[in-house]
Amino acid sequence: MNIDLKNKRVLVTGGNSGIGAAIAKAFATEGARVAINYLANPEEANRLVEEFTGAGGQALGLMADVSDPKAVETIFGTIDDAWDGIDILVNNAGIDGKYALGWDADADVWGQVIDINLKGTYLCAREALKRMVVQRSGVVLNTSSVHEVIAWTGYSAYTASKAGISMMSKTLAQEAAPYGVRVLCIAPGAIRTPMNQAVWENARGYKDLLTKIPLGRIGEPEDVAKMAVILASDAACYITGTTVFVDGGMSDYPSFSHGG
Ligand code: NAD
Repeated sequence: MNIDLKNKRVLVTGGNSGIGAAIAKAFATEGARVAINYLANPEEANRLVEEFTGAGGQALGLMADVSDPKAVETIFGTIDDAWDGIDILVNNAGIDGKYALGWDADADVWGQVIDINLKGTYLCAREALKRMVVQRSGVVLNTSSVHEVIAWTGYSAYTASKAGISMMSKTLAQEAAPYGVRVLCIAPGAIRTPMNQAVWENARGYKDLLTKIPLGRIGEPEDVAKMAVILASDAACYITGTTVFVDGGMSDYPSFSHGG
């Protein structure tokens, strides 16, 4: 099986925390050149860059808000200057937003989730695809969520953004396929990261979470990272325009295991 990612040029957005950091590490371990985009916590981005270069690899730390088109263009320009293009984009940056029932939500706060998750994913995909269709190779891996198919009270912007990422990815996949470029989604379930720390750190929240996961444990960032590496590699060369769920069965509707 061919998982050879040596020297591949990879950008991971939001790559200095949680799932993104695990994905950046997994690609670096495979010998890829890894650009870590970050918005906050530059210290952690720098630490990862030093870790990867210290191990003999190549790495860049690139600050940008993915919802800002100019900032996104700038980081892709920096990657061009350093590595003359890109082979793999992992669109990982995202926020879940503030809990609010639909009729209580502030429109600007709601829109910010769409701007970062959906528009940010599009803006980075756009820059990557401009380059990939010309070189006639490349992979864009977008991070959706089990919430591309499972509703989540209080988070209508998040669910809309993730369902939007799924459908956008299918469309971009159709457009890019004739150029040998793949576009697909990875959909994590409940993964132990800062995003949902309040739930898994709380005994009652954790117990409730486990009732939603048939495999009986919360996911670790590395569970997602391993699959990201496989999907970006030639081992997955015949997969495009779809979503791969890494969720311990969460999207298998476990509440139906009791009948119904
Ligand atoms: P996290 O909070 O640890 O990481 C999110 C990263 O995105 C951080 O580095 C953050 O700084 C960055 N980010 C946020 N806004 C940004 C912006 N405007 N520009 C650039 N970077 C920005 O959370 P995580 O759980 O690792 O989430 C990573 C991705 O996985 C997200 O897209 C999230 O929706 C998705 N996801 C997570 C889970 C989970 O259970 N943790 C489940 C499903 C999907």
